Amino acid sequence: MDEFELIARYFLPLQGEDPDLLVGNGDDGAVFKLGAERVVVVVDTLVAGVHFPAHISARDIGYRAGAVNLSDIAAMGARPRYATLALTLPEAAPAWLAAFSTGLGEALKAAGTRLIGGDTTRGPLTITLQIIGCIDGAPLTRSGAREGDLVCVSGTLGDACAGLALCAEPPANSNQRWLVERFLRPSARLKLGQALNPLVHAAIDISDGLLADLGHVMQASACRAELNVAALPLSDALLETVGRARAIEYALSGGDDYELAFAIPPAALTAASAMAAEMGLALTVIGRVLSGSGVAALDSNGVDIHPARSGYRHFR
Ligand code: ADP
Ligand code: MG
Repeated sequence: MDEFELIARYFLPLQGEDPDLLVGNGDDGAVFKLGAERVVVVVDTLVAGVHFPAHISARDIGYRAGAVNLSDIAAMGARPRYATLALTLPEAAPAWLAAFSTGLGEALKAAGTRLIGGDTTRGPLTITLQIIGCIDGAPLTRSGAREGDLVCVSGTLGDACAGLALCAEPPANSNQRWLVERFLRPSARLKLGQALNPLVHAAIDISDGLLADLGHVMQASACRAELNVAALPLSDALLETVGRARAIEYALSGGDDYELAFAIPPAALTAASAMAAEMGLALTVIGRVLSGSGVAALDSNGVDIHPARSGYRHFR
């Protein structure tokens, strides 16, 4: 039983029907009506040794905890407002806590988000952050992709996966330093998510890997995506560090980039690209949405290259 079967069997039944629930289980965040507001709630847990190597700095752990949660808010096209923190610590070490608090504060403050509560316990290092936000307009979900849409992504892919592999050692050059930074300090694409919301049909943030995460969008939308591997946006730093073949594998199956992947009608692409460019971000068309199911990664001969790994799963 993988984590998705587990959730569907044991936790989905607790949701029930509710006219105020606009987006429930199965998306990057849940959305409900509260008076005139549309409220978004996201929560993510980071476990030492699973979501980050135990040796990275407390400041980076704090920053990452903030950024990966804000990324789910970005994927819903929402604005973050408040956060709560459930922190499990092996010991109360003041220097560690000061650095963690600094890093978390950097990520939250840049997003205009305040930490308003939480829970603190002793045990193996585990960080659970919940963020509450609001949406102007309709929520941006995983389920609206349609045949004829283009599949796009922001930024470049595969960098954080390379950065994770490199972060145990001091960086040997500026490329390595930049890749490690992409893993340790991901950028939640909040402004982009809000700007794309009225233009695109579906979106997700890339946390587990492009193929896995687009797979969720296609499943939720009952569509198929065909990707053109040659179109994947790969940074020069990644290409120079790991070579083209591995860069493609990282871009398809590595996680942790926290870029947005979305399905957009072709007529909206120019407007979306112009808005992204104002934010200093490139959008790249990497494929198209068709009828059917699944995600194929096609090489120049039209052959699905199906890498062996397609996203992290906590249970099998
Ligand atoms: P993401 O990668 O965006 O953080 P996840 O893969 O963690 O999303 O979760 C997939 C979906 O399952 C989400 O909608 C999430 O809210 C829901 N979910 C995960 N764990 C549970 C749980 N224990 N109880 C109820 N819903 C859950
Ligand atoms: Mg997500």
